[in-house]
Amino acid sequence: MPSSPSAHPDRQPDGLGFATRAVHAGQTPDPSTGAIMTPVYLTSTFVQSAPGEHQGHEYARVSNPTRSDLEANLASLEGAAHGVAFASGLAGIDAVLRRLRPGDHVIATSDLYGGTYRLMRQIHEPMGVSFTFADLSDPDALDQAITDETRLVWIETPTNPLLRIYDIAALADVAHGRGVDVAVDNTFASPYLQQPLALGADLVLHSTTKYIGGHSDVVGGAVLTSDDGWEEHLRFQIKAIGAAPGPLDCFLMLRSTKTLHLRMERHCANARAVADFLRGHDKVGRAIYPGFEDHPGHDTAARQMRDFGGMVSLVLADDAVETAVRLMQATRVFALAESLGGVESLVSHPASMTHGSIPADVRRGAGLPDSLVRLSVGVEDPADLIEDLDRALASL
Ligand SMILES: *Cc1c(COP(=O)(O)O)cnc(C)c1O
Repeated sequence: MPSSPSAHPDRQPDGLGFATRAVHAGQTPDPSTGAIMTPVYLTSTFVQSAPGEHQGHEYARVSNPTRSDLEANLASLEGAAHGVAFASGLAGIDAVLRRLRPGDHVIATSDLYGGTYRLMRQIHEPMGVSFTFADLSDPDALDQAITDETRLVWIETPTNPLLRIYDIAALADVAHGRGVDVAVDNTFASPYLQQPLALGADLVLHSTTKYIGGHSDVVGGAVLTSDDGWEEHLRFQIKAIGAAPGPLDCFLMLRSTKTLHLRMERHCANARAVADFLRGHDKVGRAIYPGFEDHPGHDTAARQMRDFGGMVSLVLADDAVETAVRLMQATRVFALAESLGGVESLVSHPASMTHGSIPADVRRGAGLPDSLVRLSVGVEDPADLIEDLDRALASL
């Protein structure tokens, strides 16, 4: 078992534990029928008894009851006062960044999801916001990077795909000392493993497409916050721009969060088994997994996470892209695909897939080798996963 972090706030002030909230938060049986599941409200508008008099919903771009229940559920899981659901993770990130004005400055961790990097550099930078991408392993590096124009620090931890760990509490302390807000992309951890708001962050972003959705069948995003100003901004973005998720997608997410804790426990156990196997294999040069005691972020991860997650990255001993590509084509249980966090195990090549939108020199500068292989370890039988990798490695 991993060392058990004590700071993890499993119980919220309402006294209910994470698993109970995962199953129930935000949902009550439908008063008209008793249906235990929140219905899929396939409606674009809501009848009013008099102009402006309605039961909480006017028009489905602005809000929808299925979406509202999902938002309440996700807010509860992150210990947030407010949740705002989006059509995708990137739509949520975009809505956050739209609070910035020309001249404002953002500091982001250098090892970042490729789509986030593209959104920052190709959409928001041309609108006049400047970005610094920095290794924030040392909180002093953040202090030095902050300028009078800095408005936001964007942290991904664990990072994609290098699985670096950043100390959320230490970075939030530095940022808040300079009057700067902190957003954490918690996609890789899920709220079951890590709750950034309790560690001092102002905003949490999820690509719910990943662990929260968990079944590789829906794309979505959410931003969670306890800050009323941020909530007002985010709701206005949904209303004014319209990157809202549809009711069926929200239903699927609500169905998924009920098993988040169960899936995460199996993802973590399987990832540990896979990481241990890879580390002992002579064709593997480097296995990257925050649960290893010699991982540079291990102690921080043990402090701020409940367990070390379901992601494992590796570089083969020959460090060659060709061999890495052969490995990815030789697995049978691990499917070659982008994305992560679903029940099925996936293998991917970040340099050409998820991170292809980051220029090669920037990628290598951030320490991401072209030969890196990323595994999203699913919830299958661990013996089958190891057997699959063992056979694929033997075929090289
Ligand atoms: C996938 C992903 C995103 C983007 O989310 P989408 O739902 O694909 O728009 C953002 N951050 C991380 C860490 C991701 O893995």
